[in-house]
Amino acid sequence: MSTLTVHSLSKSFGAVRAVDDLSFSLAEGEFLALIGPNGAGKSTCFNIINGQLTPDDGEVRFGGNIISRLPPRDICRRGIARTFQIAATFGSMTVAENVQMALIAHARQTYRFWHPAASYHRALALDLLRQVGMEAAADRPCRELAYGDVKRVELAIALASDPKLLLMDEPTAGMAPRERNELITLVKALVVERGICVLFTEHSMDVVFTFADRIIVMARGRLIADGDANSIRSNALVRQVYLGTRAATGRMEPIA
Ligand code: ADP
Ligand code: MG
Repeated sequence: MSTLTVHSLSKSFGAVRAVDDLSFSLAEGEFLALIGPNGAGKSTCFNIINGQLTPDDGEVRFGGNIISRLPPRDICRRGIARTFQIAATFGSMTVAENVQMALIAHARQTYRFWHPAASYHRALALDLLRQVGMEAAADRPCRELAYGDVKRVELAIALASDPKLLLMDEPTAGMAPRERNELITLVKALVVERGICVLFTEHSMDVVFTFADRIIVMARGRLIADGDANSIRSNALVRQVYLGTRAATGRMEPIA
């Protein structure tokens, strides 16, 4: 059963059709990669799904309801979370405090009243940090953390809203290959355990081909392919938009 359905979505910036009649769906529990060269429209697509942008045409449904054109807050409340970039964590606050803030924000949005005490949020925050392997750093300021560890905290923050769908736009940007694999392995284990589905973009084809259940490919705003790793690897159109294709090693370098 599909949980997220994107139907005939379009968004232009001036003369640029960033997203052009895009349709795809995401099944429950699916780990779906969205790939494509720079400027393909991936981030625009994410920003429409999470409500930061309004589409010109088309719609996004989640759990059967139309969510496009709702404010980001309402979309988050319905169970769609995104991982934020590094700037979203408050450097001077501790790791646990960052996660507690996210838990408090979620509780206020969901229940509309200030209920559990800070100590309760601390216990929940520590539990989330344990799940991402960061419990030992709970009382350290975020700014002291290594980059890969910040990414883990960002994941805990996203999980604080107890999402059904997690959107991750380039979660491993700037990471070394080993860190990348570790983070995605962690995400995959957590989402399988929690039954969350994930839509993510990722530059490393090794990661995409290893971890994604299914891959959709965008180029110039349009969907050009949808399938499993094997079908995407051997897809002529996909190979055309990626130069330097070395499909045998699973490596395709995107053209800018
Ligand atoms: P991707 O994430 O795949 O690299 P984007 O969605 O960021 O692609 O961008 C798609 C196209 O839309 C690009 O040509 C980009 O320059 C343009 N674009 C994206 N956001 C804006 C914006 N806020 N204003 C103007 N043009 C934009
Ligand atoms: Mg992008």
